[in-house]
Amino acid sequence: MSKTKRVIALVDCNNFFVSCERLMKPELIGKPVCVLSNNDGCVVSRSNEAKKMGVEMGAPYFIIKNQFKKVTFLSGNLSYYCEISKRVMDKLLDFTPDVEIYSIDEAFLDLTGLRKTFNCSYEEIIERIVKDIKDEIGIDVSVGMSYSKVLAKLANDKAKALQKTLPDKKTYKIGYRKIQEELKSTLISEVWGVGKNTTAFLKKHLIQSAWEFVSQEDVWIKKNIGKIGLELKQELLGNSIHPVDSTSQAPKSVSRSESFKEFQTNKAYIQEQLNNHIHKTCKKLRNENLATSCISVFLRTKDFQVQSLKINLINPTNTEFELIEHSKKILDNLFQQGVIYRSVGFCAMRLTPQNEMQISIFDGANTIKKQELSKSWDKLEEKFGKGIIKIGG
Ligand SMILES: [Mg+2]
Repeated sequence: MSKTKRVIALVDCNNFFVSCERLMKPELIGKPVCVLSNNDGCVVSRSNEAKKMGVEMGAPYFIIKNQFKKVTFLSGNLSYYCEISKRVMDKLLDFTPDVEIYSIDEAFLDLTGLRKTFNCSYEEIIERIVKDIKDEIGIDVSVGMSYSKVLAKLANDKAKALQKTLPDKKTYKIGYRKIQEELKSTLISEVWGVGKNTTAFLKKHLIQSAWEFVSQEDVWIKKNIGKIGLELKQELLGNSIHPVDSTSQAPKSVSRSESFKEFQTNKAYIQEQLNNHIHKTCKKLRNENLATSCISVFLRTKDFQVQSLKINLINPTNTEFELIEHSKKILDNLFQQGVIYRSVGFCAMRLTPQNEMQISIFDGANTIKKQELSKSWDKLEEKFGKGIIKIGG
């Protein structure tokens, strides 16, 4: 390999929302605690004690509150968690500018070359990250380190698994000599980014472990899983394909509009065209890992008057189902009976990284379902072509 090897770490806060709560309420340390989503809908963060008792992630509060009387259930305080998150991320930037914030409580770091800067080993650097964040902010983090994002994620999972028996094991490194052994003991389904369909397909071909996967010929992988499969193989072998991206500049807005084939006075038709625009916008947002928290709909009349209305959303989203619901309300306000229209448009503004959408678990399990639905929509279109699904009016 002539390419420079990368050293990539994934820093992940442990039980993040619960850890934030314990900063303010130290009396909860060592006790079973859960944080609930918006309107106390379901469990979105659990302390280790609550996990051990069997409280499930996403469990509806009204069902489990009687089942787990010893657990302290807290209402979530998202703006506070964001504040703590920012402090953690700022601390990471003290180590390197190459920080990719992946979600409210996770970030990838490219540590390549920092041994010289810090005059110590990479293992010592990640130990220091753990210690500094604990000492200065009070949050426990786990760090996985290896040569690619996929392996760093795997290393992080290992660190977390080991913590069950060794609570002080905060870091885990997958070095070259360990890759084969690690991949042999990892199911392909446990690898970051490998979905149910791929797992099922590979299982049919008797490929169960990550090692069995990387042992397949490139030609076979390319033919059956495509470029993504080849990239995954390289990442699993420790060749970084997906760099840590600290620079990605998000576009400020995404918009779509199109003139109707004929002038329109029919509201249902206009809504249908609007739904199409929303779908294409959402697809673009999902492709770029973005979500919107401000949308507008604009109508252009036959004589080129533009009417538009903008609304702010509480939770960023990139799912059709939510945006279409909002757009219907906007259209109700904009549309005038008897006016002749020539086009409709949709604009998504205030874009944020999709990872921050994890926040919208605060909206309850419903949002997660809608997100999954939208993702499967993209997959279906990939397979069967555009326009396979339409949202009913
Ligand atoms: Mg976490």
